[in-house]
Amino acid sequence: MAKEVQNQAGRCATHGTVEATREIPGMGFPFVVYAIWRAVAQRRPFLCPECGVAVQAT
Ligand SMILES: [Zn+2]
Repeated sequence: MAKEVQNQAGRCATHGTVEATREIPGMGFPFVVYAIWRAVAQRRPFLCPECGVAVQAT
């Protein structure tokens, strides 16, 4: 299953400004399930690549 990685510049409390990322699941069958997963993933915060904590978008 393909995954889509989104990037966002954000501010980590430990590492300062980082290129934060989050993964969005790709589409598959059944489509309704994946649509829900993607909707949930879109609401998750971006994560610091160094320590994995949620960062604030800048
Ligand atoms: Zn960090």
